[in-house]
Amino acid sequence: MNHAKRATEFNKDEAKVNWHDKALWYVREKRDKSAHNVHGWEYLRELGSALKANVLSNLDTYLVQFEENAKKNGVHVHWAADAKEHNEIVLSIMNKHKAKKVVKSKSMLTEECHLNPHLEKHGIEVIDTDLGERIVQLAEEPPSHIVLPAIHKTKEDVDVLFQEHLGTIPSQGNPEYLVGEARKHLRNKFLNADVAITGVNFAVANTGGFVVCTNEGNADMGVHLAKVHIACMGIEKIIPREEHLGVFLRLLARSATGQPITTYSSHFNKPEEDKEMHIVIVDNGRTEQLSREDFRASLHCIRCGACMNTCPIYRRSGGHSYDYTIPGPIGSILSPGKDLKKHSSLPFASTLCGSCSNVCPVKINIHEQLYKWRQVIVKEEPQPVIKKTIMKTAGKVLANPKLFEVAGKSARFALKHAPRFMVYNKLNAWGNARDLPEVKGDSFEEWYKKRNKNNE
Ligand code: SF4
Repeated sequence: MNHAKRATEFNKDEAKVNWHDKALWYVREKRDKSAHNVHGWEYLRELGSALKANVLSNLDTYLVQFEENAKKNGVHVHWAADAKEHNEIVLSIMNKHKAKKVVKSKSMLTEECHLNPHLEKHGIEVIDTDLGERIVQLAEEPPSHIVLPAIHKTKEDVDVLFQEHLGTIPSQGNPEYLVGEARKHLRNKFLNADVAITGVNFAVANTGGFVVCTNEGNADMGVHLAKVHIACMGIEKIIPREEHLGVFLRLLARSATGQPITTYSSHFNKPEEDKEMHIVIVDNGRTEQLSREDFRASLHCIRCGACMNTCPIYRRSGGHSYDYTIPGPIGSILSPGKDLKKHSSLPFASTLCGSCSNVCPVKINIHEQLYKWRQVIVKEEPQPVIKKTIMKTAGKVLANPKLFEVAGKSARFALKHAPRFMVYNKLNAWGNARDLPEVKGDSFEEWYKKRNKNNE
């Protein structure tokens, strides 16, 4: 199924779509207020973007520096070329410790590598401890948003899910009750875990330390209770120096949820006494994306989710319609680099309005990259004959003012006088879900000519 078909499925429940749209727009508005309260916000974005560009040009230096410093701190550092290697490394650490229970805080990298099923296949219990992640894990679904993984679920959905899996009583979606029950359930898992897995938001080259941001404190809880901590990071998570955290932490929290700072910005530097700390540094296609000049800036991404919250397509099609770990505008740039055929519909799931680029805290030119992928895809992937014919015809009409005028007149005439079936048919995909606007008076050109004549 392509994106449009999956979006059609999501759109069957209109009330839910409207609610999803509104909930994400609320987050976008919070982001705006929060960003406008920071003097020099645009300068901060410039700085974030420049620092990321510097990182991408010097990845080899910073990653090796990070490894050296982390090793000095007593941390075990591993390198994984791809998802398979990443999963094998994590499993081998688990096996070395005869570990059978894992608590995991939010990590899009482990989602990308499908770590959970890999560990479960080997008899290991993996519990996602971020509340939203736990909800989708119980529902056996992937996250639909990188910051708000269960945003597609209502509190009533969660009520039913918890009754089924946690034995809760019906509460008509009472959030306090449901959160309290989730807390009890998770506490038990934390206390019995052998290993804690976390993601990494920022890895600092000059100290060998790293920062994990959560709003629930679940990363800290897991790490402090388990004997072994495994942190999994993509190579692009590196930043040169500790003081650069001041730039990225301010950008991240405000862009993600409109908070001035994430509730827990936890700094990990070395293992506690009698404990072990591991870092797995993963490539998994990132160097390939780095080699694509037009798309390398997509690796600036700090996974704040702001481009999703603002995107009119994402808000009304839902994260699952993208069928990729990272949905929304940034996912639509990253995914074709992984599998062009499978994800060829995603760069077209955009109005190219540019709102994503406007909110991106590290100034990624998202909508321009989407447009560039479209140019690649139409050359490399077979396109439907109807689409190709319409595009060719449209190209000719738009390049010729006379033809454009005639086409405009005919379209206005048809919209006013033609029977409905002639306008709303298979060729008119736009009209499938909405009526075209009513034709009023003259075209712009006719109005303009008349106006000039009247002014003579
Ligand atoms: S592309 Fe930009 S806005 Fe989107 S998630 Fe990444 S950092 Fe945030």
